[in-house]
Amino acid sequence: MSYLQTPIEYLKGVGPQRAELIQKELEIYTFDDLLHYFPFRYVDRSKIHTIKEINPYTQFVQLKGVVKGFKIEGVGRVKRLKAVFEDKTGTIDLVWFHGADWMMKNLKLNVEYVIFGKPNVFNNSYSIPHPEMDLATEQKIESTGGLMPLYSTTEKARKKYLESKAIQKLTRQLIENINERTMPEFLPLPLLRQLNFIQRHQAYHHIHFPSSENRLQDATQRVKFEELFLIQLRLLRIKHNRGKSIRGFIFEKIDNYFDKFYKEKLPFELTGAQKRVLREIRKDTLSGKQMNRLIQGDVGSGKTIVALITMLMALDNGFQACMMAPTEILAQQHFESIAPLVKGLGIEVVLLTGSVKGKMRNYILNNLEEGSIHIIIGTHAVIEDKVKFKNLGIVVVDEQHRFGVAQRAKLWEKGTSAPHVLVMSATPIPRTLAMTMYGDLDISIIDELPPGRKPIKTVHRNDSDRLRVFGFMREQIAEGRQIYVVYPLIEESEKLDLKDLQDGYESICRSFPRPEYQIGIVHGRMKAADKDFEMQRFAKKETQILVATTVIEVGVNVPNASVMVIENAERFGLSQLHQLRGRVGRGASQSYCILMSGAKPSYDAKKRIEIMCQTNDGFVIAEEDLKLRGPGDMDGTKQSGSVALRLANIVEDAPILEAARNAAFEIIDKDPDLISDDNRSLRNYFDEKLKDNPWSMIS
Ligand code: ADP
Ligand code: MG
Repeated sequence: MSYLQTPIEYLKGVGPQRAELIQKELEIYTFDDLLHYFPFRYVDRSKIHTIKEINPYTQFVQLKGVVKGFKIEGVGRVKRLKAVFEDKTGTIDLVWFHGADWMMKNLKLNVEYVIFGKPNVFNNSYSIPHPEMDLATEQKIESTGGLMPLYSTTEKARKKYLESKAIQKLTRQLIENINERTMPEFLPLPLLRQLNFIQRHQAYHHIHFPSSENRLQDATQRVKFEELFLIQLRLLRIKHNRGKSIRGFIFEKIDNYFDKFYKEKLPFELTGAQKRVLREIRKDTLSGKQMNRLIQGDVGSGKTIVALITMLMALDNGFQACMMAPTEILAQQHFESIAPLVKGLGIEVVLLTGSVKGKMRNYILNNLEEGSIHIIIGTHAVIEDKVKFKNLGIVVVDEQHRFGVAQRAKLWEKGTSAPHVLVMSATPIPRTLAMTMYGDLDISIIDELPPGRKPIKTVHRNDSDRLRVFGFMREQIAEGRQIYVVYPLIEESEKLDLKDLQDGYESICRSFPRPEYQIGIVHGRMKAADKDFEMQRFAKKETQILVATTVIEVGVNVPNASVMVIENAERFGLSQLHQLRGRVGRGASQSYCILMSGAKPSYDAKKRIEIMCQTNDGFVIAEEDLKLRGPGDMDGTKQSGSVALRLANIVEDAPILEAARNAAFEIIDKDPDLISDDNRSLRNYFDEKLKDNPWSMIS
């Protein structure tokens, strides 16, 4: 066991009882955990302020002066000691709620102290509860060069005297034993030199007890790099192992289906971006390695046709293709758009969802295994039902951003050759986030919309505009258009929300009476068949208005719908608003998105709505979303593999992430098994760190 793995109980001054508190309250179990319990901020203890300078924004102050007098107030549990402290600019109260007796015995009057604490303001007068008191003659800022670390703690811990100061004592205790031997370097020397980093043990010294701002900077950079580098190294390592152990099918020929389709069937000219992505896919499928590629393209950027053309490449080489969608409706829509496109080419395309049963199901299962079905489109069921293929060459996964490493691995059985995998996502994620979430995938971006699209006009309205909004809806319906009205539905308040939805539906029914208007409603609580029925009615133009919850968010395509009204827009996140808006603007006519909110949305909500009104660009929105929410909220950012991001922030530290990615890439490229002398310590560190979490997940 390494020194750092020593249980916290064995740190001098801790012991079993205190260890229990530290474990429970701070989740610190080992020396290593304590070293990674970073200060949340630092206070400059080299500056002495004056009482006059204190204002409502003062966080911490250090003052120099004398205690003029003190008294005990209250009795029993409310007993406290109040002292009057004076410097040359004025006086301030110092207060102790516990330990009052001890303090009173030990406080010296009219002797100069240096005190430190966090002022409170009450009734226009300031006081400092539980200040740190040092006699001016003894006051020394031990080798901290003035920067004192502050550690967060809990209420319970504080009550038991485990406050910032106490934690500081523990880290100081530990840090004295941290050196090259107890905390060995693991970054390869050449990298360390190239990036001009300080040694690992030095970095941990300075992150807890920086001797200067500059030292703190150096330490922070290094520790952030470390966190991001380990994640990247792990992802690239997974990717490398996969490449080594899995052979990929080679789609050498593109003659029959591909050619015919391209020449005779393709209804439009591909955009430059679509062509570029197809070239990238072509390269992958010729490489002899398994393709694992993510295509990111905003809603309406034309990902489906790219998927179809890729599937035709597989068919030309004698393979079958499969396309998965997250919902039945989406699977059906894919089927309905793809089947006519390949008509006359001698390709058999089938749709398989949960509702395909009996004879039809048997027919599909038999002919898939026998090989006469070329393309199968369906929901997840396609894979999980253990449907057997004769020779599956490619799997296209549509609109499933949470389709991670492990799920992808399920697509094939161990020991068999693996089909190529193409993941398509309309939820653009910023590059930095993509690097951490999908670091083991190659990424293609369709950053161009097909020509002739009119940008959707987005406006913000509130309840007092409702009559005008209804008027506008009538105009649009009179022109033959259709309209979505969407209500939020979030889990905690589902009942209330459902009532909102019902009320909204009824109010719309009153304002848009039958038989002139037909109105449909769908929500997640309905049976799948009923939902489907309502969606179909809307798609067939039998209803003009569809009142819905976010069930319509994903991928549904009704090009004639030109207005998206989003109720309580303040309750939606940015990317969700963008996804919803993407349901319109799919036809030739001008489309609109109307964001309805209460009169006073919160600051963040207003900001989100503003951004929506300003831009249609999914990538810009994704970046803004990440900024507003912070990465902590997003999937897969707090914890990636076994490495937690404690200090690094993938938004603010994008440049460090970039450097970490490059460094990891270079190392894996040159020495994938980390066997060179330079990389041995890195390998050792990894082996230890990932003991319970095998180094290669797929091999
Ligand atoms: P998404 O990327 O959101 O899945 P789709 O693949 O559904 O987008 O495409 C949206 C619409 O754009 C479809 O009606 C499709 O036929 C059309 N489309 C795709 N590519 C082009 C293109 N290059 N030129 C014109 N229309 C296109
Ligand atoms: Mg799509």
